[in-house]
Amino acid sequence: MKLRAVVAMMEHETNTFSPVPTPLRRFGSPDVPRGAEAYRLFKGTGTGIGGFLDVADEAGMETVTPIAGNAAPSGPVEASAYAAMCDAICEAISRGCDVCFLDLHGAMVAETTDDGEGVLLARIRQLAPELPIGVSLDLHGNLTDDIVDNCTALVGYKTYPHIDMYETGEHAGRIMLSALEGSVRPVMSWGNRPLLAQTLCMGHEDRPMGPLIDLARKEEGAGLLAATVFGGFPLADFPSAGLSVVTVADGDRAMADAARDRLLDAAWREREAFIFRSEPLPETIARAKALDGGPIILLDHADNAASGGTQDTVAVLKEVIQQGLEDVAMFGICDPEAVEEMALAGVGSRIALRLGGKVAMPSIGLPGEPLEISGTVRALTDGDYIVTTAMGRGTIESMGKTAVLDTGNVQIVVCSRNSEPFDLGCFRSVGIEPTQKKYLILKSRIHYRAGFRAIAQHELPCDGVGVTSSDNSLFKFEKVRRPIFPLDSDASA
Ligand SMILES: [Zn+2]
Repeated sequence: MKLRAVVAMMEHETNTFSPVPTPLRRFGSPDVPRGAEAYRLFKGTGTGIGGFLDVADEAGMETVTPIAGNAAPSGPVEASAYAAMCDAICEAISRGCDVCFLDLHGAMVAETTDDGEGVLLARIRQLAPELPIGVSLDLHGNLTDDIVDNCTALVGYKTYPHIDMYETGEHAGRIMLSALEGSVRPVMSWGNRPLLAQTLCMGHEDRPMGPLIDLARKEEGAGLLAATVFGGFPLADFPSAGLSVVTVADGDRAMADAARDRLLDAAWREREAFIFRSEPLPETIARAKALDGGPIILLDHADNAASGGTQDTVAVLKEVIQQGLEDVAMFGICDPEAVEEMALAGVGSRIALRLGGKVAMPSIGLPGEPLEISGTVRALTDGDYIVTTAMGRGTIESMGKTAVLDTGNVQIVVCSRNSEPFDLGCFRSVGIEPTQKKYLILKSRIHYRAGFRAIAQHELPCDGVGVTSSDNSLFKFEKVRRPIFPLDSDASA
């Protein structure tokens, strides 16, 4: 008889300082995929759920896919959206299954709970006390007791940009297959250090994250079933936010504990290197202006669409225009109103706009500040493109209705749904060839590297405005455990 597997995805990185709402429709376009539709959309894709589906299919299991929701990061998930996704997963499990594979994030905060994944897993555990549960998590997960205690084996990404989502699902899936066969008995250990590491310092190609990930791989090579260093997501005012480690051993708790401590100690020694140092925006743009060659990436990281940014602040764009940079393309401003105005005017028309700045950011005390700008409408599309980088290969990225405003020196992609520029398709799908531009302004932090690093001559982080700023003094942390580094310089391990 075939084993029955429930395979589901519920992914959201919640920025508790973000004013961007998170209703259910944000988890899929036009709707959150369920059932056969979820299977069809994610089978064969470079995602955690794609890895799980391949493992389950190859093992000859019957798969049930109640829901596959993935929303761009934003504020706390609306109560009804969170309940709808958890209910779908729990109902499928309560109809009976032999194993459950969950592609989760690890830093989901809902209106009803600070620990979106922990509460879901505890509910599943209560429903099915003996069910083997395999989980894949994002490198930015903020781990908790409820997450780790209520699953069987947990593996996180080892890359940022997340180009190993598929491998992570496959890794967790294979551990679960071995556990089902009885050839391994996973035991997990987890812990954290008081370190609110910054995401700009978590790229896997850089120190300190790269060497830490190498150490985790070394622990796996020495006999652990899995070892993950979670950088954590710092823009989550939540007690457990910050760096943590999860290790999975085969029956040997002491081995899991020892490896966890080695990894945590190594991370703590690098705490200074996890803090980003910025420079004033005008200086960065002046440096960029003096550079030869291209494309030169200008990272508008304080308004990163994939960390909860409104994706409509204009500080970096304004400075680039003021300093007279030429041959610039930008992705992108999320401003559905402006797109509608451009659509109404039509491709080829001249138009004057108040661009961006439509969303206020009360958590950092700023109103929205639009940019008065005029240009020619160059393109108008439905905003869908197929991802070709390893990060989510084969999935459809939906930018919503999208238009290009061309000022002569700057071509600005204006979209209607939050979308981070990580794949060249964000430009090519609207008729801009990014390799031929001198400057690319990207509202991104690290994920741009998945598609853009290979074409970039220089990459400059630009300290703009937004709720994904790396300046901790802008944010009022009330719930995170204290003391914690760098909010408290005297924090000790
Ligand atoms: Zn992430």
